[in-house]
Amino acid sequence: MHGQGQRLVFTQTLTQAPLHNGRPPGDAAEPSAADPEVFPPRHGLAAAIEVLKKERNAIVLAHYYQDTSIQDCADFIGDSLELSRKAASTEAEVIVFCGVHFMAETAKILNPGKTVLLPDLEAGCSLADACPADAFADFRRRHPDHIVVSYINCSAAVKAKSDLICTSSNAVHLVQQLPADRPILFAPDQNLGRWVARESGRELTLWPGSCIVHETFSEQALLQLRLEHPEAEVIAHPECQQHLLDLADFIGSTSKLLQRTETSAAPSFIVLTEPGILHQMRRRSPGKTLYEVPGADGCSCNACPYMRLNTLEKLWQCLHTMAPALELDEEIRRQALVPIERMLAMSA
Ligand code: SF4
Repeated sequence: MHGQGQRLVFTQTLTQAPLHNGRPPGDAAEPSAADPEVFPPRHGLAAAIEVLKKERNAIVLAHYYQDTSIQDCADFIGDSLELSRKAASTEAEVIVFCGVHFMAETAKILNPGKTVLLPDLEAGCSLADACPADAFADFRRRHPDHIVVSYINCSAAVKAKSDLICTSSNAVHLVQQLPADRPILFAPDQNLGRWVARESGRELTLWPGSCIVHETFSEQALLQLRLEHPEAEVIAHPECQQHLLDLADFIGSTSKLLQRTETSAAPSFIVLTEPGILHQMRRRSPGKTLYEVPGADGCSCNACPYMRLNTLEKLWQCLHTMAPALELDEEIRRQALVPIERMLAMSA
């Protein structure tokens, strides 16, 4: 498989980022880069971020699972595939990635010459953590004849050991393009892998990982919501467990769930994915009613704890200090680029 991907060419050079004021209009005190603890007042943060974006020639990319205040400051909001495409094509010198670590890594893999900032470096992912690179390499060694397809929710080191990267938007489409006579390994999400196997008709050997957010929904609460709102369509992300997917009327990636709320004639939706997406659903379909499904412990807080580590304050601060910036081992970056470029070429 190596070498089949279409190579992308980057001609961007990183210029020295200018010093800035980055303060809301009329605010007298100016923070300096040496004084990163000084924040603009909360009500002026969005305006201050806009100033800094211009000064830094920065673009803010945000995942649908980010806090609404961050989504409202973003230049582009999307799911993993859309964000990867945007990261690959942006002319900005600085990419601020409001998402989790593996997403910012992907942006850096695609843009080695640019500064990629993540507001909180601790914003990890349970799924990526469930697939350590050494154990994954061992898994791969035990299946030497397999094509290795990895969901984008994995570390750069795991991507570097993969033949093809996919997202939940394109996984079925990509797996269907693989040679019929080659067995396939799929990592790290077993729930997504099972769904891809069913939809594509291909047998997949699965890595046993899962997402803590999509595994917490209560089946009992879902059944109760369906009883109370029989007119509502149940829409689910394929990272959910099988017994929940069996109850869904529509299964799709985050962006496909968003589209579904716009195009379906249903007046209401019971949504089985991270609730950050509800912000865009409400914006695009203001007349529709949305119901969140609580977790099995009765708690209605299925927000991804990693995604929510990013805050508006940290977004401002990282633009202000130009840190923390993603750094990657060049050899791993180069190896990880191959299956990502292959994904972009195959899903074009
Ligand atoms: S929602 Fe799940 S897969 Fe997505 S970043 Fe959070 S832990 Fe990872």
